Amino acid sequence: MSVRDILLWPDPRLSQVCAPVADDDPGLAQLIEDLFDTMYAAMGRGLAAPQIGVMQRIFVVDVTWKEAGRTPMAFINPGVAVAPDAGRVVGDEQCLSIPGLPMQVERPDQVLVHYRTPDGRDVTRHFGGNEARCIQHEMDHLEGRVIFDHQPQDRRARLEAAYGG
Ligand code: ZN
Repeated sequence: MSVRDILLWPDPRLSQVCAPVADDDPGLAQLIEDLFDTMYAAMGRGLAAPQIGVMQRIFVVDVTWKEAGRTPMAFINPGVAVAPDAGRVVGDEQCLSIPGLPMQVERPDQVLVHYRTPDGRDVTRHFGGNEARCIQHEMDHLEGRVIFDHQPQDRRARLEAAYGG
C-alpha cells in the first residue's frame, strides 16, 4: 500500500490533458492500488491519476464507502456521454486538490460510461445520482478541468480569492 501526495490547485499538471493508458502498462495494478489507498486516506470518494502527478487517463471512484461499505470502481481510458433521458442538476462538489472549498456544479444526472476494467474488460455502463456526478468530476481531471472551470466568471473570481486567502 502506498498513499501518494495529492497535487493542490493551481499546480499546472491539474490543467493538462492526460494521455491514454497503454494496454500493456506494467505499472497499472500498482497505480490503481495507490489511487484507492490515497483516496481512502484522504477521505475522498473519487481520485484521478493526474491528482497524484500521473498524467494518464485513469480514475477511481467509491461513492458509498463512508455510509454503506466499499464499492470500488476503477475506470481506464474512459469516455463519458450524456444519457439520452438525462436532466441537469446542481449539486455541491468538493475536490481533494482544492481542499476546504466546496462549490456548486451543474451537470447531467445520468451518463453512459465506456471504459476498461482492471481485469481488461471493455464495458459500457449507465450511472446516475452521486456516481454520475463523481464520474464526471473525475473525468474532468483527465481533460485538465477542475470545479473552478464550471463557475461563472464573477463567482470563480470570488472563490479563487477565498481559496488563495
Ligand atoms: Zn477533483
